[in-house]
Amino acid sequence: MYSYLAGLRCSRCESRFPADVVRGLCTCGAPLLAVYDLQRLAAESSRDAFTGRVPSMWRYHELLPVSTESSVVTLGEGMTPLIPMPRIGARVGVPRLLLKDEGTIPTGTFKARGAAVGISRAAELGVTGIAMSSNGNAGAAWALYAARAGLTALIAMPVTAPVICRGEVTAAGAELYLVRGHIGDCGRLVTAAVASRGGIQEVSTLKEPYRLEGKKTMAFEILEQLGWSMPDVIVCPTGGGVGVIGIHKALRELAELGWISGPLPRLVAVQSTGCAPIVHAFEHGASESTAWPDPHTIAFGINVPKALGDFLVLDAVYATGGSAVAVTDAESLAAQREVASTEGTAICPEGGAAVAAVSTLAERGAIGADDVVVVLNTGAGIKYPELMDTAAPLLSPGDRI
Ligand SMILES: [Zn+2]
Repeated sequence: MYSYLAGLRCSRCESRFPADVVRGLCTCGAPLLAVYDLQRLAAESSRDAFTGRVPSMWRYHELLPVSTESSVVTLGEGMTPLIPMPRIGARVGVPRLLLKDEGTIPTGTFKARGAAVGISRAAELGVTGIAMSSNGNAGAAWALYAARAGLTALIAMPVTAPVICRGEVTAAGAELYLVRGHIGDCGRLVTAAVASRGGIQEVSTLKEPYRLEGKKTMAFEILEQLGWSMPDVIVCPTGGGVGVIGIHKALRELAELGWISGPLPRLVAVQSTGCAPIVHAFEHGASESTAWPDPHTIAFGINVPKALGDFLVLDAVYATGGSAVAVTDAESLAAQREVASTEGTAICPEGGAAVAAVSTLAERGAIGADDVVVVLNTGAGIKYPELMDTAAPLLSPGDRI
């Protein structure tokens, strides 16, 4: 079987739904999660089946929701490199520090994983148009994958979102709206538009079940790249939380299959001090966050004042003995520069926030010198040219250097 998808389950009330028709949220308002027949998969296959397959995230197709290979809409996403960062690791006292670099993926950010699976499954189920709110990168990815699949796309993003994402959405032929407000304000406009227009599916963060399945593959790749041994810690920039939630779901599926054993990696959610609802909730032992007033950070992808799946992020953090950490924009930018100048990789500011958080955790003793630590860089630094220092002396041909 290409996919072992068996249905959908509500993440809050546990209600079950068949997965063969288009669905958004549960009737209780919570996100739906894809459920697989893991017992049957464990009986019929093993993790060795992945070896030798195409080096993309579709090598894990049994644990993805698309029912046939012919329904896959792909631009070659996945199997991004896991790069050692020895110099920064030595400086912060975490010598086994690794970077999962999502900057090399189509559209330049990890949003491509969710878009590829979400669009493939939507098209397979007969959806002809999608609409979403986005902080920019997800909108760009979904608009481009929608174009590849022949679906229409409506994207609303804050007017303060990275300018390049507007260009990508427009180039993809999608309908673009810029909003004077944050991603929550965009979401309300999109939900109203979908209700009044009809015939299009809302695919904003966790409002459909399949984006999460694409994000999940990051954990499959990390484990396969480590020879199916588990890292001790995985550090994720966290806005809407799909990265952390997806990684946790993937780890639990692999454990239930019996394909990994031992304690799961401690999952760390990283936010900015200018928008840290998950961190605030974690520090108070809460199971949900409260909306963050006046959210702002240069790490724009994590500028989410209230995530629909906040309780799932917090559950992942608590269940794995992880934590939630906020860093300043100055720390994120400094880490971004340090990764480029010492390790040779131009990462995005969200990735910079995650690298900065490793220093914080090491100082607190939450990460030790023996830990294998994977930091997720969610996108390419070149998607944020406005954050890069471009000052240099301007010469004429007769000048000397
Ligand atoms: Zn429910």
